[in-house]
Amino acid sequence: MELTLILGPMKSGKSFDLISYFAPLRYTKKRFALFQSERNVRDNQIESRNGALLDANKVGSFAEIIDAGYEIIGIDEIHMFRPEEAENIKKILQKGTQVVVAGLDLDYRGEMFLIIKKLLEIGPLRVVYRRAVCENCHEHNAVYTQVYNNGAPITEGMPPVIPDDGTFTYSPLCRSCFKAN
Ligand SMILES: [Zn+2]
Repeated sequence: MELTLILGPMKSGKSFDLISYFAPLRYTKKRFALFQSERNVRDNQIESRNGALLDANKVGSFAEIIDAGYEIIGIDEIHMFRPEEAENIKKILQKGTQVVVAGLDLDYRGEMFLIIKKLLEIGPLRVVYRRAVCENCHEHNAVYTQVYNNGAPITEGMPPVIPDDGTFTYSPLCRSCFKAN
């Protein structure tokens, strides 16, 4: 079946897109489920910034759901998964399950997450690129997520996954305002 990617920086409405896609399915007979990384420390729900919520299951690997027989699955924050998980997503698609994935495409250096690269290589039917409002110049054209440690932009030496524990702060920024290494 087909793969859809919803990509963009922090605060660009990716989770809301995902929720909008799946919320109506609750009233159908479709076998569907939403997933997020077990590394996500928040509740078992996907939440968008405007307050919309849907229940989600935490998984470490998609190997667990290849044979689960879902008609459609959604995955939030795909960048929190290991790159090898792209192979499991391919297997899920081959089983006839439709997959809708949301997440950051670019890391704190402005470089593409390896799992996103691998998913693009599978040949998604749709790739939706979202923009956020740049928190520096306030234009609606942010494509990057700048990560700060005590107010200073980090341009190297950080694991490519952004922890969600308050250690780091982050801002969506446009091409002019983003500081790459
Ligand atoms: Zn800007």
